[in-house]
Amino acid sequence: MKRRALVAIATLSAVGCARTPRPRAQLESGRVATTWYAGGADCSKQPQFRVQPYNDDFVIMRQAACTNYEKPFLYLIFGRERALLFDTGAGHVDVAARVDSLIQGWLQRKHQASIALVVAHSHAHGDHVAGDSQFVHRPNTVLVGRDTAAVRAFFGIPRWPTDSGLIDLGGRVLDVLPIPGHQPASIALYDRRTGILLTGDTFYPGRLYVRDTAAFANSIDRLSDFVARHRVTHMLGAHVEQSRTPYRDYPVGCVDQPEEHELDLGRAQLVELDSVVRSMRGHFTRTLLRDLTVWPQP
Ligand SMILES: [Zn+2]
Ligand SMILES: [Zn+2]
Repeated sequence: MKRRALVAIATLSAVGCARTPRPRAQLESGRVATTWYAGGADCSKQPQFRVQPYNDDFVIMRQAACTNYEKPFLYLIFGRERALLFDTGAGHVDVAARVDSLIQGWLQRKHQASIALVVAHSHAHGDHVAGDSQFVHRPNTVLVGRDTAAVRAFFGIPRWPTDSGLIDLGGRVLDVLPIPGHQPASIALYDRRTGILLTGDTFYPGRLYVRDTAAFANSIDRLSDFVARHRVTHMLGAHVEQSRTPYRDYPVGCVDQPEEHELDLGRAQLVELDSVVRSMRGHFTRTLLRDLTVWPQP
């Protein structure tokens, strides 16, 4: 009994629950689907995108497996004055038409005539920027450049990658965090209204390909620190390659993935990744974790 009481006291002091909590703004709630099955190789039986709103102003899209085995996730986030599309997909799909129909639906619901569109990217790899050309001549649209300098200038990031930037969509501020390592211009987006953190190809249930180990280690450390200091409700990446069976991923190039891991990752996985990456001290080896794999690339 005595021992149990001591443990309880230690736990209480560790989380600091004696402090009076400061009142905080309420985060907007929503729902992330637990399965995001994107179909098999046959395109005749399914739409090009699976779309599910997190809530009225935050839409999650996934490209169908039959159009590209990468089946990336795209995100469309609405503020009062601007909407932001995060990634344009892996190609061979009419992403602009799907985004336009979602925007039209939103405008009708809000009784609003128009809204500007910003098209930005989690990073510059082909499976996330292939639809860019469809937005080049779209009216009332800004297409953010793909390289580090363009990203830094657009989001007002003073020092790359240690500082963050932001964008205000109108009553909705997104923090922009540089997280190079997978690719030099990789960023994460934090939505202050829902607490969702979008992590691109840097942190998701699958193979985390690392090109620059030092930059990646620092990015994961900064992400981990950010998550410890902010209310993060969901961490959503750009792919799912992991299966529901722990430590098992689908093979590279796999189209049909009926037993996928859920999209959402949590702080536990990020803390574990941070710890594993730190312990490698720059000498990365391919390391299988329960929900993802660290995969250094030359
Ligand atoms: Zn990538
Ligand atoms: Zn990717």
